[in-house]
Amino acid sequence: MNFPSGQTVNGDSFTTDETLTCDAVIIGSGAGGAAAAWQMTQAGLSVAVLEEGRKFEPHQIATKQSWALRNLYAERGTSVSMGNIFLPMARGRVVGGSTFLNAAICFRTPKKVLDVWQRDYGIDWADAEALAPTFEEVERAIGVTKTRPDQAKTHSLLFKQGVEALGLEGDFISRNAPACIGCGICQFGCPMGFKGSVDRNLIPFALQKGAALFPCTRAVSLLVENGAAVGVEAYGVEPLSEERRRKLTFRAKKVFLCAGSIGSPLFLLRSGVANGSGQVGENLRVHLAAGVVGRFEQVVDMWHGAQQGYYAHLPGKNAVLETFSATPEVFATQYSEYSKPLKHLRDIASCGVMIGDVSKGSVKLARTESRSNMSYDVEREDHLTLLAGFEAISRVYFAAGARDVHLGIPGVGKLSKMSDVEKITRRTDLPVDELAMYASHPMGTVRMHADKKLGVVKPDGETHEVKNLIVADASVFPTSLGVNPQISVMTTSVTITRQQLKVGA
Ligand SMILES: Cc1cc2nc3c(=O)[nH]c(=O)nc-3n(C[C@H](O)[C@H](O)[C@H](O)COP(=O)(O)OP(=O)(O)OC[C@H]3O[C@@H](n4cnc5c(N)ncnc54)[C@H](O)[C@@H]3O)c2cc1C
Ligand code: SF4
Repeated sequence: MNFPSGQTVNGDSFTTDETLTCDAVIIGSGAGGAAAAWQMTQAGLSVAVLEEGRKFEPHQIATKQSWALRNLYAERGTSVSMGNIFLPMARGRVVGGSTFLNAAICFRTPKKVLDVWQRDYGIDWADAEALAPTFEEVERAIGVTKTRPDQAKTHSLLFKQGVEALGLEGDFISRNAPACIGCGICQFGCPMGFKGSVDRNLIPFALQKGAALFPCTRAVSLLVENGAAVGVEAYGVEPLSEERRRKLTFRAKKVFLCAGSIGSPLFLLRSGVANGSGQVGENLRVHLAAGVVGRFEQVVDMWHGAQQGYYAHLPGKNAVLETFSATPEVFATQYSEYSKPLKHLRDIASCGVMIGDVSKGSVKLARTESRSNMSYDVEREDHLTLLAGFEAISRVYFAAGARDVHLGIPGVGKLSKMSDVEKITRRTDLPVDELAMYASHPMGTVRMHADKKLGVVKPDGETHEVKNLIVADASVFPTSLGVNPQISVMTTSVTITRQQLKVGA
């Protein structure tokens, strides 16, 4: 079949098996895959982007959680890691990947994190100053601007007031949603089309330059000849049943694996390649998070305004405090003390602590190809950092005039002064699973390391063992970031792709 340059062709629409040939095939259309496609097409190469999920336009988004879980989330939003705690670990399965359902928060990779990557993992390009122009290019391409006070609205402005009263380091959050009206349902996709997820920018840029996009297409194994990747065996998949349809073979000079930190190790394990180090699927890192709610004398109506508008650093830790909102029913069930009478929900504001973990987990093959098998144990150090975050948020809320705060710990209820908070957060016997913790942003499962015994990919993104197989997504991060990762993923992918373009596709 001729290469459908510039077109979007659903994998499940093929009625015969097909073979296509191009310069590069990219597995995954999320932050990493879209950035790689953008760069390669700018250089004039023909690129096929394979995506297991479907393509949705803003007007097709049903603003309901049940619809979103079924249509936009991998494993229908039910993926959890098992260990000393059950941790929900959501990720996207849609054109745009997890950026389609993210909250649009944009942070650059912190300098202290890059320094560790350079020093301990031999990643020569991990230099904040040298990367600054690439960060800027990425930010421009996806439309990053700082949240304005009129977008942030009361729940974030109260937090700002407390942060300033305590002299903490904080600011409005930069987001790639300049026209955001603050409806607060980013995790279902943006029905207004106001969020700069990569299906709205980098993917269309690549299509304009001749890329072809194949939604509903699952890559299942790598084609290798003489120790080098030469393509991918894929199948069209029916989007809801996930059943395989026609076999689609993509032959290419380079294969870019950008299936995310769960999908990429699963693809490598299923293909039985690049795992001489035994590191594929290991070193699963995440950002652990949990929230605190404060109740004020005034009406807050926190569901008005940017879902996450203001942040502060947690002093001395690799962690941030970020305001967040959700729809009233979420708070009515989780913080029921504030929902009797229901109008009290109008007086609350909430903020989460999100930490760069020191704990680790792993991803292994599951019984079916659309499921994952993850494990993760939360270590005491991370538990204590979360509790330090609870203290800091409570302090900020009291400084901003909160009547009481709620830590979301079962049986604890509302706390009306800081000494009550500390009595809880400094308890040494508090079980780890008492916190309503969740994990976001999986990273690290196809770790980059200059030493082939300790990592899967080299600093230029190519695997140590299979030539022309390049990994360019969150899975290559050797450590947790401590800030939301999409800008880091895109910048890392651009950096890797440019190195590959120098050696020729
Ligand atoms: C609910 C939520 C909110 C978030 N909020 C923020 C935020 O506000 N700011 C921020 O910086 N980050 C946020 N993130 C995280 C951020 O979006 C991700 O870290 C980033 O998108 C990861 O990029 P990636 O390319 O590694 O993977 P993804 O963007 O997840 O893309 C991987 C893609 O590969 C596809 N795929 C997997 N396996 C295959 C296969 N075998 N064949 C074909 N396709 C396959 C998947 O369907 C998916 O579309 C959020 C994430 C979630 C889930
Ligand atoms: S909060 Fe803003 S970016 Fe998120 S869905 Fe609503 S309008 Fe879109």
